[in-house]
Amino acid sequence: MRIDLRSDTVTRPSAGMLDAMIAAHVGDDVYKEDPTVNALEEKIADLFGMDQALYFPTGSMTNQAAIKMHTQPGEQLIADKYAHVFNYEGGGVSFNSGVSCKLVDGHRGMITAEQVKENINPPDFYHSPLTSLVCLENTTNKGGGACYDFGEILEIKKVCDDHNLGLHLDGARLWNALLTTDESPKDYGRVFDTISICLSKGLGAPMGSVLVGKKKYMDKAMRVRKVLGGGMRQVGFMAAAGIYAIDNHWQKMHDDHTRAKELAAALAGHAKVKAVEPVETNILIFSLNDDVKETDFMAKLKANDIHISSMGQGKLRIVTHYDYTAAMHDKFLEFLS
Ligand SMILES: *Cc1c(COP(=O)(O)O)cnc(C)c1O
Repeated sequence: MRIDLRSDTVTRPSAGMLDAMIAAHVGDDVYKEDPTVNALEEKIADLFGMDQALYFPTGSMTNQAAIKMHTQPGEQLIADKYAHVFNYEGGGVSFNSGVSCKLVDGHRGMITAEQVKENINPPDFYHSPLTSLVCLENTTNKGGGACYDFGEILEIKKVCDDHNLGLHLDGARLWNALLTTDESPKDYGRVFDTISICLSKGLGAPMGSVLVGKKKYMDKAMRVRKVLGGGMRQVGFMAAAGIYAIDNHWQKMHDDHTRAKELAAALAGHAKVKAVEPVETNILIFSLNDDVKETDFMAKLKANDIHISSMGQGKLRIVTHYDYTAAMHDKFLEFLS
């Protein structure tokens, strides 16, 4: 039994998802003639109460498109130092948009309204880049699946309004946050200008991300997606997987969260483990005692066909997901006991 907890992207389509994909009605989405893609976009726009949504191949591309839509070359965005848009999108912020990042030393990948305010360059001081956008991430990836306090997001929105800044959410795992906090998708839709969400993480679709936002920004989205090479044709087969995942897999993420917490408790009591970061959703970050070699620990896991990932700097990461079954969970807990 292979237990793969390196990421929540390793899932394979469930039987029901495959059926939905095969049954999909499709057309040329570059002509906006794919009924299933159109249905997915409408579903997401309605869910968030926002004007428009657009289907993209990846979450990196939705983020990069949003940044392009919000900024001009030479400008600057504000994000946490752990931000995916800065660390894990191949330098796309500078490559695609000619924009620099002002990185904030936040807490578990999250920043405060006060920190945003402190990091805005004075707009009339032409020596420094013009600040035009704030990017938040929820849940945070490198921050260990932490969820924002919505009150803080509302404060950040006020700062953005006062300083004429756009507000984008990298919501690759917003599905997870929505299950563990009190807010609804519409609460998020009211605050952010643009939101990117992933269908290929915990939801378990083979691919796809959706950018949802206000008309003012989304009017540019089709062109930007085309420029980035993200215009796809009969991709309704994949959109059908996304629709199926929202309807049938989303609520099951509660199990992922429960299992991540149970693994955290088991690791906290393990002789070789130094510290376990608090678990809020499906990501679990921990470190080993100084006298334990990471390669030895990983090798022992591998010998039991258990696979997790190293984040460097002594941090190890486990991500629970749809394909991590109760039987696998029992085996892993037994290994840790
Ligand atoms: C996975 C992820 C993305 C998008 O990644 P792709 O692999 O390009 O789909 C964006 N932001 C965060 C926080 C992520 O974890």
